[in-house]
Amino acid sequence: MIVVLRNLDYTQIKEKLDKDDKIVVWSCNDCTKYCDLGGRKNLKALAEALEKDGFNVIRQELVGVSCQPPLIRERTKHKATKEIYNDATAIIVLACTDGFLKVQRVFRKKKVIQVGSSVGLGAYSKKGGMRLVIPLEETGLRPLVEGYTLEEAATKLKMKSGPVV
Ligand code: SF4
Repeated sequence: MIVVLRNLDYTQIKEKLDKDDKIVVWSCNDCTKYCDLGGRKNLKALAEALEKDGFNVIRQELVGVSCQPPLIRERTKHKATKEIYNDATAIIVLACTDGFLKVQRVFRKKKVIQVGSSVGLGAYSKKGGMRLVIPLEETGLRPLVEGYTLEEAATKLKMKSGPVV
């Protein structure tokens, strides 16, 4: 699985939004969920926090994986979602770098906000959660058989881990 850490905190996300934006909060429901950044619970929490702060969230979108363009494009064509995506002006993406880039490519004319970045390959267990085992070369971290916890990796890389709110 891809290990996803956070680039932005809640305040930084809000700074990228305008009060008249029509916002979709979008989340991958696979690796990003296991990194406790995305998934249904975190998607809902972020959308509700934004609504409470006066932002206009028009859709919460949970996709099985955000790295498959057909799944993304389907939202722009399906009768249930086509109008919503025509109207949307901002999409906040809870996914890895690839998942973000794929969304950005489909919605070229919209403001697409990257919240997470890929930092390497990880292993997940119920007991230990997600651990970063093979960091990307550019992180400068060495591979570790037992892995880095997300908190350790985030501290070393000056990033953040876990849910936005
Ligand atoms: S979008 Fe990224 S985080 Fe989500 S399933 Fe694909 S590779 Fe994993």
